[in-house]
Amino acid sequence: MTKPIILNAAELPEWTHAELRALFTVLDLPQEPESANAFLKEHGNKVRGIALRKTKIDTAFLDTLPALEIISSYSAGLDNVDIGATRARGIRIENTSHILAEDVSNAAVGLALAVTRDFVNADAYVRSGQWPVQGQYRLGRSISRMKVGIVGLGTIGSAIAHRLKAFGSKLAYFGPSRKPVDIPYYDDVTRLARDCDMLILTCPLSSATHHLIDATVIDALGPDGFLVNIARGPVVDEQALIAALASDRLAGAALDVFEHEPAVPEALIRDRRLVLTPHIGSGTEETRRAMAENVVDALARHFGIESPRSGTVIDAELESTH
Ligand code: NAP
Repeated sequence: MTKPIILNAAELPEWTHAELRALFTVLDLPQEPESANAFLKEHGNKVRGIALRKTKIDTAFLDTLPALEIISSYSAGLDNVDIGATRARGIRIENTSHILAEDVSNAAVGLALAVTRDFVNADAYVRSGQWPVQGQYRLGRSISRMKVGIVGLGTIGSAIAHRLKAFGSKLAYFGPSRKPVDIPYYDDVTRLARDCDMLILTCPLSSATHHLIDATVIDALGPDGFLVNIARGPVVDEQALIAALASDRLAGAALDVFEHEPAVPEALIRDRRLVLTPHIGSGTEETRRAMAENVVDALARHFGIESPRSGTVIDAELESTH
């Protein structure tokens, strides 16, 4: 049987590339945009699938791939994909939301605890020898007694809600639609912020969520409030956040993602009320491996090819097509 032709636009581990090559005829998309355009003009009409990571998929890109049937993305976030245009052409999209939700939500809760209990500065307090000299460390805040607002109650937001319920936190959420859950729904993010002690961001980046968290929302959260961003940097207006912190209008923030990452503004780096991590939400060996395997498995499943894991990892209930 002729192997389906796949465009490799993902920086995947070498062993995943080896699996892709065993199952498909793989065309590697050149990194440099001009070479990529020329490459697509020449070979694009044969491509039936894409293994994707960050490459921008817009209508111009799709126009070069008339035979495309499936995009298999390594990421959960699909902000690099014009989802409407892709779906309108009947192209299937597979991502890894269902695979990374556990570790990303673990990271979000870890960040929420770190910022409210001041773990990073407390660690430095012990290491620098201040404890015997200065005595008892300042008090933190209790997440168990907080009302936490989740912005985007999807796969990751729901996993965070599940964990925070065990902590005893009160919960509420904002999103475009009410979900069939026993968590109070807000149709206005500013009102949610006003009623909550902490906001955790787990919505996709889109034109609707770009700078969703602006000065108004931050002020509604208030000087005792906390912000946790595990979604995408541009969901927060970073300059508004910096301004709010400069005038003590927010208690603290934990940020895994940044507006222009990996560049992080000096004002955020210097501010000890913040916990900052370098986009490591899904960054465990187990999850990253499962994400890479899923890129291969989703393509194999689509083309009816047996993958090295066929029959072991595929759970139709958990499949997502965002
Ligand atoms: P998901 O299952 O699609 O959930 C997204 C949720 O956001 C849905 O409930 C959706 O509501 C809601 N939403 C959509 N538009 C919104 C808006 N304008 N305002 C508020 N909420 C909105 O996605 P997921 O897998 O949970 O992932 C969420 C995001 O997390 C990804 O898009 C990605 O950017 C980010 N992420 C970050 C990391 C990291 O390492 N930091 C890792 C993985 C993912 P509806 O269902 O009503 O549309």
